[in-house]
Amino acid sequence: MRDLARDARWLSINTATTRGQWDLRQAIDGVARAGIAGISPWRDQLQAMGVAAAAAAIRANGLVVTGLCRGGMFTEFDRAGLARALDDNRRAVDEAAAIGARCLVLVVGGLAPRSRDLAAARALVRDGIAALLPHARAAGVPLAIEPLHPMYAADRACINTLAEANDLCDALGEGVGVAIDVYHVWWDRALEREIARAGRAGRILAYHVCDWLVPTRDLLLDRGMMGDGVIDLKRIRSWIEAAGYAGSCEVEIFSRENWWKRPGEEVLATCIERYRRVC
Ligand code: ZN
Repeated sequence: MRDLARDARWLSINTATTRGQWDLRQAIDGVARAGIAGISPWRDQLQAMGVAAAAAAIRANGLVVTGLCRGGMFTEFDRAGLARALDDNRRAVDEAAAIGARCLVLVVGGLAPRSRDLAAARALVRDGIAALLPHARAAGVPLAIEPLHPMYAADRACINTLAEANDLCDALGEGVGVAIDVYHVWWDRALEREIARAGRAGRILAYHVCDWLVPTRDLLLDRGMMGDGVIDLKRIRSWIEAAGYAGSCEVEIFSRENWWKRPGEEVLATCIERYRRVC
């Protein structure tokens, strides 16, 4: 394990964590003030600030951009509408390149409209990423497939385990990897093996942390701060490090009723303290 006493050098804040209280400009300032090394913005906030202005502010503060959230949603329209989804994804790649993001995180999409066919959705996702890859490779932006918890299979992502994401990467080749978010994969009995597999392929592009609260009151907006839930964060971290991952640990907490209501400074101070103690 790394020397966690060395401040927040490997810590990154996904701006979903402070979405309730800060826009992107405030988040960049706040993260830099807290001495945190990295940031991972969302596209709506990036576009609201302006891509060039955000890139300049991030650079001026010396922040690492551990990812851009998000591309994907290849199933949003159905197969006939895939071209529209691809246009938006190419713009996302360009935005990621403009801010120097280490990867573009892909939330791949759930069932197509009026469909019950998960296999068709997964084929659409594979074809969508394959069609996006030449543009991403040319821009030098790796695509990070983020498997989502199965509770989102219908409406957000039909890729639900790290094994499925690894299989997809095997099929697609260079330029694509995985984002491993503990919230989505902590329950998976194959997790250790699949993390090792992703590590051997050199494809772990991002590592997201938060915690799973018991009970969880909202499927989307009730994620916990590390240490407040039931995820064995240290164990998963040991697997990630054993797999050779040397990137950042990115905190991503959607918490409408709790953390979004607190001052941003308090949220970040808590992230640092928990990162040192329980991650
Ligand atoms: Zn995530």
